[in-house]
This record gives sequence, structure tokens and C-alpha cells, in this order.
Amino acid sequence: MGRARVCVLGSANMDLVVFAERAPELGETVAGRRFVTVPGGKGANQAIAAARAGGDVAMVGSVGDDPYGRQLRAVLDDAGVDTRALANVAETTGTAHILVEDGGENSIVVVPGANGTVHGLAYGLDEALTGAQLLLLQLELPLDAVLAGAKAARERGVKVVLTPAPAQPLPAELLKCVDLLVPNESEALVLTGKDDVNSAAHALAELVPEVVVTLGADGARWLRRDGAGEHVPAPSVQVRDTTAAGDTFVGTLAVALGEGRPMGQALRWATAAAALSVGQEGASTSMPTRARIEEFEA
Ligand code: ATP
Repeated sequence: MGRARVCVLGSANMDLVVFAERAPELGETVAGRRFVTVPGGKGANQAIAAARAGGDVAMVGSVGDDPYGRQLRAVLDDAGVDTRALANVAETTGTAHILVEDGGENSIVVVPGANGTVHGLAYGLDEALTGAQLLLLQLELPLDAVLAGAKAARERGVKVVLTPAPAQPLPAELLKCVDLLVPNESEALVLTGKDDVNSAAHALAELVPEVVVTLGADGARWLRRDGAGEHVPAPSVQVRDTTAAGDTFVGTLAVALGEGRPMGQALRWATAAAALSVGQEGASTSMPTRARIEEFEA
């Protein structure tokens, strides 16, 4: 089985997370309990997950020429991701300002910053796609960049995997370039207007050849347009932190598919990796290595 080559065109953000008893009212100041910075962004998370799972991964996107940008690049480099096509631009690095209340509810302000400067055929994409089996896309970059990436991949015979998050209407032009759509349950329902996962999966399989709906602790539901598919349960684990479980799932799935594994086997691998990540604190730091995934599966 050859090594998987995966290209990710997506966002890199620094998550600035404040924990406080409650969110302030308008004009009010409250004391926070704790502050942490966590490297994130769906693109960077999926790239790190794929690299840890043993893929040969290139990340295409933009960060600012500032401390957060340098930190994100270092985290990606450490994971073994090729960051030559991660541009340094004059905008500030993307940030997500997250307030977590004691009850666990959160509110988030995202400033796209450098991510918002990626337009059309992103810098370095062409080279990063050469020899890749899959391109991973999400919706945290401007839509014209996502579309240009999908078209470029399609022209080169590279399989396009789209995580439709944050959920938004998907233009037909984009859908016709997508080989595999991987929404979570709420995205699947929002995209289709259905009220149950099964009908949503069937509706999505009319639009793209293959769909995998992730179902949190219930695992994942795979459906191919020709009717083939299965429900893969999630291994039961003690939940510590579900942040980036979806990105771990997609990054690992891509590596397994790039290695030529059949979908059923690839899904078992992805659910194992995602379960391991929810059992650990942290986002990008909680993604399992290939050795951990294989040991857990055995
Ligand atoms: P997130 O936004 O937290 O990254 P998501 O909403 O995109 O996640 P989910 O469907 O919640 O996606 O989770 C993705 C995958 O992670 C699931 O398909 C499952 O394999 C795994 N997973 C999530 N929660 C659990 C859990 N409690 N126990 C085991 N596996 C889990």
C-alpha cells in the first residue's frame, strides 16, 4: 500500500479561548477565569490530522506575518505538513475569539484576516496538487477560492472531499466537482432542509456521488449514490474534549482512502482516530499518530 498524498486548501486560525462564569451583557465587563490560545482552523486541523495518520500532506492557505502566523506554521511544520504553499500576507492571521461559559455554552467571533485574502487559484495550489490523490476543502475560505480549488483538482483527476462547514448553500458549480461530502448531522439537515439523517443522506447522495454524515458518539453513516453504504458505530470512549473530532475524522479518512483502502475500512480507521481525539484534551494536540490508531484498532 503506497503512502497517501493529501492536499488541504483551507483556513488556519489561532483560537483565543476565554473561560468565564458567564458572557458579559452589552457594555458590561466581567472577570475571566482562564485564557488559552489553541492553533486551529478547519484546514490546519485536517492537515495535522492527516499528517499524524501517516499521510504526505501539503497545506495551501494564508497566515499573517505575525506571532500567531509563525506559531501556526511551526505547529504544522512539527506535524510534518509541507507549508511551502502557506503564504505570508500583510493581513493579520485569522483568529477565533471564543468565550466559554461555566455551563459549557460558547459564543464565538471569527475574524478571517489572512484567510480572507485567499482568492481564486491560491498560491502554490498547482504544485501541491501534483501527485495528490485527494484535495480536502472546507468553507472557511472565500467561496471563489474553494471553487477554484475544486475545479483545479477535478481537472487533474484529484478526488475532492468537502466538509461543508460552516453550513451554507452550496452552488451547483461546486457540487459538481465534489466526490465525497462529509457534513456533520446538523450540517446535513441544514443543507437539505430534512428533519432526519437518513433522508438528508439520501438527498445529499442525489447531489454528489458519495456522502459520509458524521454522527458524534453514534459514529458515521456512509451512503453512495448507487445505494451502497453502511453505518459505522463509534468506539465507546470517555469524552474529554470533542473539539476538532470532525477534522480528525476527515483527515484520517483521507489518508486511508489515499492508501487505497475500501471505504468501510477507511471509516473504521477514521472513527478510531476521532474517538482517540475526543478522549484527549486539546484540538490539534489531541490528534492521534498512526501508531496509536493502529494499536487502538488492533
Ligand atoms: P467537531 O465540531 O467537534 O469537530 P463535528 O460536529 O464536526 O465535530 P461529530 O459528528 O460530532 O463532528 O464528530 C465527528 C466524529 O468524531 C464522529 O463521526 C465520531 O467518529 C467521532 N466522535 C465524536 N464524538 C464522539 C464520542 N463522544 N465518542 C466517540 N467518537 C466520537
